Amino acid sequence: MAFHNLIDLRRLILTLAIAATSITLINSLHAIYAVQREELIAGALNANRVYAGKLAETSGGFLRSAQSQLAYSAGVLAPLMENEAGLANEAKRLLTQTESFNSVVIVNAAGVIISTSPETLQVKGRQLVTPSERQSLEAKRPLITEPFVAPSGNLVISISHPVVAADGSYLGYVAGTIYLQATNILNDILGKHYHDDGSYIYVVDRSRTLIYHPQKHRIGERISGNSVIEAVILGQSGAQAVTNSQGKAMLAGYAAIGEAGWGVVAQRPKEATLAGLDNYVFSVVSKILPIELLTLVLIWLTAGSISKPLRQLAHGAGNMDDGNSEATISGTRSWYFEAEQLKLALLKGVRLMHGKINQLRLDSSTDPMTRLLNRRGLQEALERYESSGQSFSAISVDIDHFKNVNDTFGHDVGDDVIKELANIIRTSARKGDTLCRAGGEEFLLILPDTNLDMAKEVAERLRLQVAERAIPLVGSITISLGIAHRPGSSDTIESVLKLADHALYEAKRTGRNRSVVA
Ligand code: GH3
Ligand code: MG
Ligand code: MG
Repeated sequence: MAFHNLIDLRRLILTLAIAATSITLINSLHAIYAVQREELIAGALNANRVYAGKLAETSGGFLRSAQSQLAYSAGVLAPLMENEAGLANEAKRLLTQTESFNSVVIVNAAGVIISTSPETLQVKGRQLVTPSERQSLEAKRPLITEPFVAPSGNLVISISHPVVAADGSYLGYVAGTIYLQATNILNDILGKHYHDDGSYIYVVDRSRTLIYHPQKHRIGERISGNSVIEAVILGQSGAQAVTNSQGKAMLAGYAAIGEAGWGVVAQRPKEATLAGLDNYVFSVVSKILPIELLTLVLIWLTAGSISKPLRQLAHGAGNMDDGNSEATISGTRSWYFEAEQLKLALLKGVRLMHGKINQLRLDSSTDPMTRLLNRRGLQEALERYESSGQSFSAISVDIDHFKNVNDTFGHDVGDDVIKELANIIRTSARKGDTLCRAGGEEFLLILPDTNLDMAKEVAERLRLQVAERAIPLVGSITISLGIAHRPGSSDTIESVLKLADHALYEAKRTGRNRSVVA
């Protein structure tokens, strides 16, 4: 049947539940993922912004103190520019006391290095020639230079202060240098920081040149096209997502070091920032899933008990022709409203149907005029005797000269007479007797477990009762009766009835209003 293609209610409910919970779960996870991701990114940006700001502040503090130390030394050196030992002393003091510089150099107004510390530099007496070497000399003011290759061969930046005589004439300058690619004060300030989560820091000067970077070989490199660097050399501070020169997505915080025109950038790879996110979502799922599955099991069980009564009712309704249908339906545990309604409706229907069937069966086996059995009803009764083998007596009854009644009083009165006789037969009969209108004004009585003597008695009593009964218009009537017995008269039911009929004819023939035993 086409039924087999249909999903059952239980599966339908479970499917709906799975769909609903899956959509909810996926939606929640998506929301959790998105919110958490935004939070992680915002957190990293903010942390880097704050961190870059702190480092810029610390670095700015260092530069200010370096400059004020140099300013002090410049004052000390003004009267000593011709004093080789004095210069050497001051250079040494500056280097060792402050620990800010990798080296200290003192240059005279002619651009000749007149003292160094450490003295092992081997550049004393050298003339500064290239423009980058001569930045401080040309500036004649406190200066933080751009990176340049010093006469010593190191890539350096130099923090310098002019030495000016009491009369205001320019005598040269004193400078502390920082070797960018060696261990230096910037490493101390910037380098000891977290790298384990992929974060790192770099510093650019105003010409976009890297002056600090954890990868030392990149120091001195000039970076272009990086929006963070563009912002920070304009003196701005903030945070943004950028793609670095290696094409990697970074979450960068940045801050300017105002004194030097430098910028500090603290950044962390976006990938590293979001690395924990998958695990986070996974652990959320692993916490949600057991309850989710338990819920589905409960739904499966509930769906089973929702569909069970419907299935039972459908089964009961589908087999109404078998005798158990009503029991199946009324035995159904209909624990919710609709099932109970359905059950009551089906019971009503089944009972109605069975009532109708019984009525029809009764109608088809009953004579409508006398409400005694008709021939068909008799046949059914006889079949029961046949199968049970029960003994009985049969009495065949016929009204005497009934034609006369019809002829004299009309057919309707005749009918009334037939009804009256039926009433007499019915009221005088015992329970269990089979009473039948065999046709016209003939009747047949089957009396179970009744012998011929008893049957004869019954017949006589009936005959007298009829004869004594006063019938309106007609007065009184008489009947003749023929009696036979099974198994006495014959073994087959058919022949017993025939014998009863013969006895009836015999009664007619011998004068009527009598009963004759076959
Ligand atoms: P007998 O003593 O030999 O039985 O004579 P009878 O006149 O009764 O003869 P019979 O039994 O052969 O005739 C029966 C008559 O009953 C025939 C018919 O007109 C009449 N009859 C049969 N059925 C009905 C019925 O349902 N109603 C009426 N009013 N008359 C019927
Ligand atoms: Mg007759
Ligand atoms: Mg008759």
